[in-house]
Amino acid sequence: AKELGGDNYKFYTRAMREQLGERVQIESALRRALERHEFVLYYQPQVDIGTGRIVGMEALIRWQHPEMGMVAPARFIPLAEETGMILQMGAWVLRSACQQLRTWQCEGRRNLRVAVNVSARQMAEQGFVGSVADTLGEAGIEPCCLELELTESLVMNDVEHAVTVMHELKRLGVKLAIDDFGTGYSSLAHLKRFAIDVLKIDQAFVRDLTVDPDDAAIVTTIIALAANLNLEVISEGVETLDQLSFLREHGCHQMQGYYFSRPVPAVAFGAVLAENEAQ
Ligand code: C2E
Ligand code: CA
Ligand code: CA
Ligand code: CA
Repeated sequence: AKELGGDNYKFYTRAMREQLGERVQIESALRRALERHEFVLYYQPQVDIGTGRIVGMEALIRWQHPEMGMVAPARFIPLAEETGMILQMGAWVLRSACQQLRTWQCEGRRNLRVAVNVSARQMAEQGFVGSVADTLGEAGIEPCCLELELTESLVMNDVEHAVTVMHELKRLGVKLAIDDFGTGYSSLAHLKRFAIDVLKIDQAFVRDLTVDPDDAAIVTTIIALAANLNLEVISEGVETLDQLSFLREHGCHQMQGYYFSRPVPAVAFGAVLAENEAQ
């Protein structure tokens, strides 16, 4: 089934709400989906263009709905957050991604890491850090092979709590990335207090990079900021060779986007890995 893009998200969220009715029904639909194993993870490679190697992948959830077909996360994540179902869903995502990573590591890709999106509700939950530690232990994954992607708005939601949790996660040894960097409201003063490792440049700035001088300026500034703060930097939404070349010239060597691969199911990602290995 065709996936629907971000522009349609509000409309489809409303349509789904009408279709599914009240909050309780949405919640039970999401719970049923979990029980019936209707959620799947897709993986998108993160490439170091210096070496050409796939260094990791981002896990992205999909809902294989029996009637609606493949549902994009923009259509159900907001509902899952609203109802609190994001907690169980997020735990499932983390567990599945770690187990899948373990499988690929056992097949020989030792240095591979996985990036997992974290929602505000998960971050706010008591015992989140402990559950991350447990999940890593059960899957047999080194903490440094897990990267948690946090958004600025998530962090700004409750800065003091977020800073505490980030430092606990850092102590555990997991890597932290700020997702969609530049689109949120965090100030540079806050950034200094965040125990993060990676800035992830939002695809909104990458899209018109080669034609819009403002976007080019923003991107080069973020890359310089990351370098000065000793952070890694990765660009998302890289679709063209021109974008890749610009980013490389300006010092961003980690990239993710359709230019390399769309997000694909685990089996297909295994083939992407094998192909990358053979290069
Ligand atoms: P995100 O974390 O910013 O993820 C990147 C989105 O950009 C993904 O959309 C991905 O498919 C898409 N993308 C990747 N490369 C390109 C490209 O070259 N061009 C364009 N135009 N798009 C590209 P997706 O998979 O639909 O996910 C949308 C959002 O849903 C994610 O944005 C993330 O915020 C959320 N999400 C996805 N999976 C999870 C999850 O497991 N947990 C949570 N809490 N949120 C999730
Ligand atoms: Ca992300
Ligand atoms: Ca992002
Ligand atoms: Ca984004």
